[in-house]
Amino acid sequence: MKFKISHSLYKLKAPRAVQTGLLLKLENSDNGDRGYCAVQPHPHLGDPTVDQILVELNAGRLSQLTRAGLDFARFGWIRAKNQFQTKPFLFRCENNFLIQHMEDLVPFSLLEAKQLKFHTVKFKITTFDADKITQALEVAKGHGLKVRLDPNGKLNPNQAISYFRALPGDLRDVIDYLEDPFPYSEAHWRELNTYVPLANDFFWQEAMLGLDNLPFQNLILKPVRHTQSTWQTLAKFPKPISLTSSMDHPIGILQALSFLALNKQSHWSLIHGLNTFTSFEPISYDHMFDYSSPVLELRPNAFLLALKLLEEETWRYACELTL
Ligand SMILES: [Mg+2]
Repeated sequence: MKFKISHSLYKLKAPRAVQTGLLLKLENSDNGDRGYCAVQPHPHLGDPTVDQILVELNAGRLSQLTRAGLDFARFGWIRAKNQFQTKPFLFRCENNFLIQHMEDLVPFSLLEAKQLKFHTVKFKITTFDADKITQALEVAKGHGLKVRLDPNGKLNPNQAISYFRALPGDLRDVIDYLEDPFPYSEAHWRELNTYVPLANDFFWQEAMLGLDNLPFQNLILKPVRHTQSTWQTLAKFPKPISLTSSMDHPIGILQALSFLALNKQSHWSLIHGLNTFTSFEPISYDHMFDYSSPVLELRPNAFLLALKLLEEETWRYACELTL
């Protein structure tokens, strides 16, 4: 089938950074059906830049990220819109409370998480500070909060293993999981996994998912980064999965929520990380969600509101593709 692809650039402003990404529109040339998606590259993690993606897209070539997005626009968006627009439907998804820079952590941050009724907080760790982590775990324990730690692969394996091996049991129990402690190495991950449950975000590959006895307890999934074929493999994956955002545009969050609602798996984690857009200055799309609580809702009118906003975007023709 032939599809016309158009794009619209967006910027999300955070206190320390600006995220640049693309919204894509896919139109079926035969019947006029339209689907949308968000593409949020992370060049510092090896993704092409937005400019590189656009050069490729304008030439009719797809990167992994645009292919994943267009897969959703083509299959997921249209299915979700038809399903959720016509029937009264409410889908709720519980999320963790994100603290982007652990070095900014003050006890009040955790009190705020508790007052907003979050059950789990997630700390991004940029530099390893054992005292700071221990202190955060103690405060979280005092508030009855679970903690997810995410150093994005930046810990030293020996340092991490000795820290978590020595951690008292009552503080280990506070940890829901430690995500991507350092780049994947089976032996080191296996040892660390005996002291603290590990979660794999950036270091899993599809070929790994069929193996037994993996040295991690949870899989982190960024819905906007995967194509339909990966979804089919993941549907059979027997470990808890937490969906997280790639710091996506709210349309990306809508993609993720739609994916969850359409593919409910009983063994998947019940707590996700999809309210990351609260890290950015508000934009009109945020009104699709109420993010003052741990629960994000996919409401019956979410697609109508999203469509209204999307139609107001400035779209630039990129290419026509046969998909
Ligand atoms: Mg991560």
